[in-house]
Amino acid sequence: MTGDGAPPPDCDVVRWAAPGVRALKPYQPGKPVSELEREYGIGDSIKLASNENPLGASPAALEAMRAELQEMALYPDGGCYRLRQALAAHHDIEPARITLGNGSNDVLVMLAEAFLLPGREAVMSQYAFAVYPIAVQAASAVPRVARAHPPEHAQPLGHDLEAMLDLVGDDTRIVFIANPNNPTGTWLEEEPLLKFIGSVPPSTLVVVDEAYHEYALAVGVPDATRWLDRFPNLVVTRTFSKAYGLAGIRVGYCLSSVQVADVLNRVRQPFNVNSLAQSGAETALADRDFIAASVRSNQAGLEQLGRGFEALGLGATPSAGNFMLVELPVQPELAYEGMLRRGVIVRPVGNYGLDRHLRITVGTPGQNERMLTALGEVLGERAP
Ligand SMILES: *Cc1c(COP(=O)(O)O)cnc(C)c1O
Repeated sequence: MTGDGAPPPDCDVVRWAAPGVRALKPYQPGKPVSELEREYGIGDSIKLASNENPLGASPAALEAMRAELQEMALYPDGGCYRLRQALAAHHDIEPARITLGNGSNDVLVMLAEAFLLPGREAVMSQYAFAVYPIAVQAASAVPRVARAHPPEHAQPLGHDLEAMLDLVGDDTRIVFIANPNNPTGTWLEEEPLLKFIGSVPPSTLVVVDEAYHEYALAVGVPDATRWLDRFPNLVVTRTFSKAYGLAGIRVGYCLSSVQVADVLNRVRQPFNVNSLAQSGAETALADRDFIAASVRSNQAGLEQLGRGFEALGLGATPSAGNFMLVELPVQPELAYEGMLRRGVIVRPVGNYGLDRHLRITVGTPGQNERMLTALGEVLGERAP
């Protein structure tokens, strides 16, 4: 090992890795609060870096998980019977069309593992969610990246469906679409998205990632689960990590045809969703008041951030999620560092090729205020 923990470039072990894996860079998560406080010797910091729900999670879900603790010596139900039934009722869909994952990330990886191989391609947009190219490359398949809309477009840096369709060819097995997209916050309307799905050959899966669905619905972003019966090649992913506030327990799922679910089930790890996650998610699903409160709080927060950025003279992309992408007049890394010193963690997005932006999660009104103050101070420091 070299001093910084990276293996030397000629290390044999790396050469033995699968070709796609060799070219991979690990996913960079947001900095945990505990790490910031350890490194900077500060307390009382806030994290607006991973699109977590600032209201926490449904109290009923937390209570269900506490009760479930009695059962920790036992393996979880590998088929997730109760959660699956609850989701089937919620979506009005057959239980056999639901695939549960250890976060929707797990489902995305299962899709790549099951449907891609070397030489096969997956199409995605520039600036799309970073997990897509990682999942594709890990399967040693080829990510084909379509240029995004230009910054002056109504959905700046968002998915350009025509550019994506141009890249769909005979070897394309998956198209990944995030609606809305992270980190841009941009979204696709019903009509163009339906037209796109209808234009993709049936041998290509269209994966519509609706991680922010509960927030996005309020802005009029379509619910692609309504089209599952029309398109056997449509797969819709959802998660309990965002509006449900359960990122820590790792549970997500996809809805698809029975056939796609059957294929995914062959690569799924036997106990990929743990028992706490199953009981927490089942209870959280029923707590519609918590979701409604989260959505209301998020809408107010988006407005607060929008006004705050405008007052600082900053441009931000419109967002259908619980975060905003804001363009800075200074190097984002400098602003990021300055904000860290003030105990505010946000997310630089240079790994997306966005080297003028920060992605900032909507917090509580107080957290938003603190973040805007820190950002204003940092920008003031750097003013010429
Ligand atoms: C956060 C996020 C996910 C969900 O991740 P989990 O593994 O379910 O926690 C999926 N897609 C997008 C676009 C996201 O932003």
